[in-house]
Amino acid sequence: MPTYDDQNIFAKILRGEIPNDTVYENDHALAFRDIRPQAPVHVLIIPKGPYVDFAHFAAEASEAEIIGWMRAIAEVCKMEGVEADGFRAISNAGVNGVQEVPHLHVHILGGRPLGRMLQ
Ligand code: 5GP
Repeated sequence: MPTYDDQNIFAKILRGEIPNDTVYENDHALAFRDIRPQAPVHVLIIPKGPYVDFAHFAAEASEAEIIGWMRAIAEVCKMEGVEADGFRAISNAGVNGVQEVPHLHVHILGGRPLGRMLQ
């Protein structure tokens, strides 16, 4: 499993060392607006635990953490009003995925037609 770097930006956000625009929080997850939004709605949802990516999270997180993160994603979609017209959920991982921040996160993008991503 990868080693978690607790100096990454999202770890600092979780510790309150860097401000963020929080849209939703529960015991296991925090959701905040992306600093460089790519769509009218662009929210990042992160687990509060120290997980680098999906594989790390799936292997080591508790069921409560997994459920908490999934529920946070669904709750954000509801609160941001993108459920009806649709949205895209993306999680970049590793070098090929061009993951910038090594703390698991899902991007929720919506509020405009996003176009086809896969052909
Ligand atoms: P990744 O490529 O890792 O999936 O994307 C990381 C995302 O985090 C990028 O979309 C970037 O704009 C966002 N980001 C980077 N630094 C900060 C920050 O300090 N605050 C917020 N809210 N978002 C950030």
